[in-house]
Parts: sequence; C-alpha cells; structure tokens
Amino acid sequence: MSKAENKSPYQIAQEQFDLAAEFMGLEDDLRCILRVPKRELTVNFPVRMDDGSVQAFTGYRVQHNVTRGPGKGGIRYHQNVSLDEVRALAMWMTWKCAVVNIPFGGAKGGVVVDPTKLSLRELENLTRRFATEISPLIGQDGDIPAPDVNTNAQIMAWLMDTISMHTGHLESAITTGKPLGLGGSLGRSDATGRGVSFCVAQAAKFLNMDLKDAPTVVQGFGNVGSVSARMLHDLGCRIIAVGDVYGSIYNPKGIDPHALVQHMKKTRTVMDYPDCEPVPNEDLLEIKCDVLVPAALEEQITAENAPRIRPKILAEGANGPTTPEADKILFENNVFVIPDILCNAGGVTVSYFEWVQDLQSFFWDESEINHRLKLVMDSSFQAVNERAQAHKIPLRLAANILAIERVAEATRLRGIYP
Ligand code: GLU
Repeated sequence: MSKAENKSPYQIAQEQFDLAAEFMGLEDDLRCILRVPKRELTVNFPVRMDDGSVQAFTGYRVQHNVTRGPGKGGIRYHQNVSLDEVRALAMWMTWKCAVVNIPFGGAKGGVVVDPTKLSLRELENLTRRFATEISPLIGQDGDIPAPDVNTNAQIMAWLMDTISMHTGHLESAITTGKPLGLGGSLGRSDATGRGVSFCVAQAAKFLNMDLKDAPTVVQGFGNVGSVSARMLHDLGCRIIAVGDVYGSIYNPKGIDPHALVQHMKKTRTVMDYPDCEPVPNEDLLEIKCDVLVPAALEEQITAENAPRIRPKILAEGANGPTTPEADKILFENNVFVIPDILCNAGGVTVSYFEWVQDLQSFFWDESEINHRLKLVMDSSFQAVNERAQAHKIPLRLAANILAIERVAEATRLRGIYP
C-alpha cells in the first residue's frame, strides 16, 4: 500500500485500466470483463518444518485473463504478498503479454513467506505443497508459472517435478525459468535485464541521448536489477548507485556491476562494496542521474518523491513501481518513463520461447534466442512509442491501450459463451 496515496496495487492497476479504457472509448461490456480477474484461488496449507513442528502458510494463484492463451506469470515469495497485490500483478501480466504480442494471458501467484527464514528443505517442502494446492489451475495449456521476487530456477524445478509426479510423466512445459538441464531455455535468466537494456537503448536513440558515461541508478539487485546493471554498464552507462533491501551504495566515479555481482555472491548484499559511500534507501531514487531503473517492488515512486525524481529515462524493471499520481508529475517533468509492461517484458518473452521449445522438444541456441528477443522488444517499443508520440500521451497509457485493444479484439472474436 502506498503511504503517500493510500492505494493498493490492485486499485492502481484498475485505475490505469480505467484511464486507458476511457481514452480508447472501450465498450462497457468489455470494461466489466477486463477490469477484474477471471479466477482467484486462495490456499491455506501446512508445511512440516525442520524441527518437526507444522506451520500454516497462505498462497494465491490468480488468472486475470486467458482469452489470448494460457495464463502466464511468476510466483513470488514475500512476507507482504496479499491477494490484492497478486491480482494487480496478474492484470499487469495480461497487458504485458499482449503488448509484446505473445499468445498468453495473465496470471500471478504468491506465498506469504519470508524465504530467507527457511532452510532449503523447508523451502522445498513449501514449494511442493503449494504446487499441489494450486495444481487444479496449473498446466501447459492452462497456466504456466515462472520465477518472480525471491523465486528461482530451482523452485521452478521443484514445482514442475511435483506436478509431473502427479501425472506420472515429465511435464516440462508447465513452468518456465527452469534450470537448463531440465528444459530451461538459454538466455532466460538474463532475459528481463537484457530487455530493459534494449528499451533503454531505444529510448536513448529516440531522445538523441548518448548513453556513454550516462550516470545510472539501479534500485534492487536481484535478477532484474543485477542483469540490467550489467547490461547497461556494457552499453556504456556509468552505474553510480545501487540499492538492495539492506541498504544502498554510491560512487560517483562508477561501480562495476560485474564485480558487484561477485561481492553479492559472497555477502548476499551490495553493502560494504569497496570505495562506496552508504546511502539511505529513501534517498537512492532521488540521486541525480540520467537513467533510473527501479527493479525492486511496487509503489516506490509516489506523489511524495516524484517531484525530486528527474532522470532522463526511467526504465521500470520492477512491476508497478510508479503510482498514477507520480506518473502525472513525471510526465509534466518530461521524464521518459518506459512502463513496466513493456520494459520488463523480456523475461516473459523468453519464457514464451522456453515453452515453445519444451512443447517441441527442440532447443535453440542462445544467439537465436537473444536475436528473437531483440526483435520483439524493439518492435514493441516502437509501436508503443509511436502511439505515445502521436497522441502526446505517456508511454504507459499508450502501452495499456495497445494491450487492451488486442485482448478486447480477441474477446469480441471469441464472443460471450454460451
Ligand atoms: N515474473 C516475471 C514477470 O513479472 C516473468 C513472468 C514469466 O516469465 O512468466 O514478468
């Protein structure tokens, strides 16, 4: 819940939808269908802990829309997961898949848990039991989970194995983001950050801006943040500040994200990286820079701090980092916001490639995957940006309009059953 605006992510997702629906004059029937999730499953389940005790957990799987294809979206493990958050994330997945035009709907899952407090065995027990609880919804043609905040390839392997044990044979296409030795795809683990860097490169070209030595700030150093930082550094950007949940670090001369990844492997945090000054997390986003990549959680940029956030490019690696009130301020201040549903769509795009490879049992090499990813990201960026410039509207509104048009068209074509 945003402190400044007192709205849940779901209220924000609906507000963004209403804005787009109004702008495009979407008919009322479709507004009713598309503004709420299609299916929501809440599960309460026990897990046997290492000390022999039993703990109860709550989890969710929400399918916002499956009109254009199976539900697609990650599963997150976080102590603040709520049904409203998962609803919002599922809705954003629908628009994300539509904006890059891959044949998936939108879904999301989550478990209310701080996974850093669990042993590996407990994490596996929790994952296998959660997989079993949500299994009525999961399937290669129905709903395909992937990693998200605090989940990874190993967790996808356990999920996939659990469902496969139920059916009695390997079901590799029921999750994506799996380990390479188990039907995972080359390029998947870097895909979201790679997509972010493609979008930043396109934006810089459009703005006539040189990325060489461009001061860059990255919030979050998990999969999305760390890969975005590496790829932007390789494009010439100077990474001057990085933050994670434990704190932020600043060095105006530049931080080598490749070395920072090695440091992080040892210490699990970016803190104490040599030659850097510590910065309070509240100040990280306000550091003067050209490129800002929020790659952590929702509602980080609000009406409260937005007036002080003035990068040239704001590339949303995270889902939902900016509130609608902040969006207005950023637009007035000429900040070029690349919205989450476009900017971080590289992950789900390579998830789509992984699913296609699993279904065909035929695997592509990495250069083919990265090449196809670039085609998808660049053409989606162009389509969204053209729409935004033509109507003088923010890219988020343009992306939502494009996405909603595609889902609305599919819904009209399929018709209302019965
Ligand atoms: N969790 C990622 C996202 O928010 C990836 C989803 C997927 O690959 O299905 O886009």
